Amino acid sequence: MEKTIAIIKGDGIGPEIVTEAMGVLDAVAAKFGHTFTYVDAPMGGCAIDAFGVPLPDSSLETCLNADSVLLGAVGGPKWDSQPSANRPERGLLKLRGAMKLYSNVRPARMFSDLSASCPLRADIAAKGIDFVVVRELIGGVYFGEHSTAEVDGEQKATDIMAYAEHEIRRVAHVAFQMAQKRRRRVTSIDKANVLDTSRLWRRVVSEVAEEYPDVELLHMYVDNAAMQIVRDPSQFDVIVTENLFGDILSDEASQITGSIGMIPSSSMGEGTRGLYEPIHGSAPDIAGQNKANPIGTILAAAMMLRYSFDMAAEADTIEAAVDQTLKAGIRCGDIMQAGCTLVGCREMGAEIRSRI
Ligand code: NAD
Repeated sequence: MEKTIAIIKGDGIGPEIVTEAMGVLDAVAAKFGHTFTYVDAPMGGCAIDAFGVPLPDSSLETCLNADSVLLGAVGGPKWDSQPSANRPERGLLKLRGAMKLYSNVRPARMFSDLSASCPLRADIAAKGIDFVVVRELIGGVYFGEHSTAEVDGEQKATDIMAYAEHEIRRVAHVAFQMAQKRRRRVTSIDKANVLDTSRLWRRVVSEVAEEYPDVELLHMYVDNAAMQIVRDPSQFDVIVTENLFGDILSDEASQITGSIGMIPSSSMGEGTRGLYEPIHGSAPDIAGQNKANPIGTILAAAMMLRYSFDMAAEADTIEAAVDQTLKAGIRCGDIMQAGCTLVGCREMGAEIRSRI
């Protein structure tokens, strides 16, 4: 098969981790007889430096014409003083909107070889952590109107949180369909005791649930959910929630599994084209030092093969190579354990490639 992949290396550790993921994709292409063609699509701080905007039209076009997009991470302190409309993260929001990627899926699964990195009590971790957060990605407060104005002699800032029924319904279907392939339980998270958007969210999710009688639906307030994720994560199978709550809860969910450097994510719209990235940011504190863990990005590439290219065996091969590398005691700094071998980003990529 021939596939074109738009590559957004981004900022900070982005170029290091994406280079390793591309190396793994090349090894898979060689093994299975595929051709992956990579097209660079500058985005983020590096694009602001080169083009004056975080997402140049040419990069957007490259992404829209590709079969899928692989992203490292964008942002960093160098661009923190940019006006909010021209920050690196705005490029990512614009890309998600233009690709109409309304659902973001992040698995929170603890690797058995990394259970020592789990920050939860051993008896809680022993019950297992294996759930998925489905986050609505192009609605809510991140996509509402933002304004800052002078009111009564002081600055007043406003961000609008808005949801339409169709925006809730389509992401709810994604969650229920995913639950049907898992343990058949959806927990919908909102703040329906306070927010109108949440009351609408709860009603629409409940309506969608009627189409999936084989899936159990529970509702939970977001403040309780933040607590339950660390108190007993084994109760969750599929979590579905709106954009802002999902942003925060999915970071919490990933942290309890060990390292933020291990977790991939996929963002999908209606078609098969998706945006695949690790869940972490550009980690400016370790950028350029060969210290970043590339596994989240490598597993994101595996998700791309599975969900966008229908290459399940190829994805399995990457995931097995990651498992074998961890079993062999090879570790980057963020997941280092006593008795293991510490390696850098490049060496971790090479170890995984050698097991493809
Ligand atoms: P971060 O995820 O970049 O880093 C948080 C901590 O985790 C740091 O100590 C970092 O060293 C560590 N870390 C992250 N990824 C790692 C990896 N692969 N291997 C080893 N350690 C890793 O979050 P932050 O510091 O809050 O944000 C830094 C920049 O990234 C900011 O500009 C932020 O806006 C941006 N950001 C971008 C995205 C994205 O591109 N999707 C997401 C989140 C944050």
